[in-house]
Amino acid sequence: MLRVGLAMLQGARHEHEEALLASAMDMKLDVEIVHLRSAHDVDETIDALVLPGGESTAMRKASSSEGLLDGIYSWMEHHTNRPVLGTCAGAILLAMPDGGRLPFIQAGISRNAWGRQRQSFEAKVEVDLPLHESSNVKITRTPDEFGHTPLAVDPQKNEGEGESFPGVFIRAPRFDSESVTCDIIARFGDEIVGVIDGSKCAVTFHPELTADRRFHTWLLQRMVDYVPTN
Ligand code: GLN
Repeated sequence: MLRVGLAMLQGARHEHEEALLASAMDMKLDVEIVHLRSAHDVDETIDALVLPGGESTAMRKASSSEGLLDGIYSWMEHHTNRPVLGTCAGAILLAMPDGGRLPFIQAGISRNAWGRQRQSFEAKVEVDLPLHESSNVKITRTPDEFGHTPLAVDPQKNEGEGESFPGVFIRAPRFDSESVTCDIIARFGDEIVGVIDGSKCAVTFHPELTADRRFHTWLLQRMVDYVPTN
């Protein structure tokens, strides 16, 4: 069984887990979600990894006692083909790792560059993810117990290059466009809001808070594609 590690640092971990399990079910894939709490949990049996959002400084501090982030960074250096999805603060951790390590994505990023917490916003972004042609990511909009419908937009209805995606930006970081030398996979107007650098995908918004599973599906597809070779 394939194992997806989820860094239990902060942020919407459980939403990531739900999204991964839903995508895996659609792909008829057996996956185990492994909660990563210490460096020992990040071993070679982990096939892919999610770095959720949160507050990156708090995440760095919280991880120091168990060495979790350090363990994750070493795992990434050893298994360069294994995919990682970093959302929001997770993107910051990929672009600006600690301990003199080289960035895992070739994209400069600035923290909190859209303003304060109350300047958080929701916007339609254009995504262009390298998903398998046959992927038909299901979007379920069943209202919850409060009668609220999960966030989603129709991915087919778009005017630009990519397909639209509901972007939830919570005190989000901002990529510095000039510095991005890897693949751009998400845009919001002129802004770059998502990149892929080899096996690493970093977005400044929170796909796990929506009903759209395309980013989690990408992670799982990439994991399946590279399992025999890394
Ligand atoms: N503001 C956070 C940081 O700088 C990121 C916010 C988020 O992950 N939603 O780390």
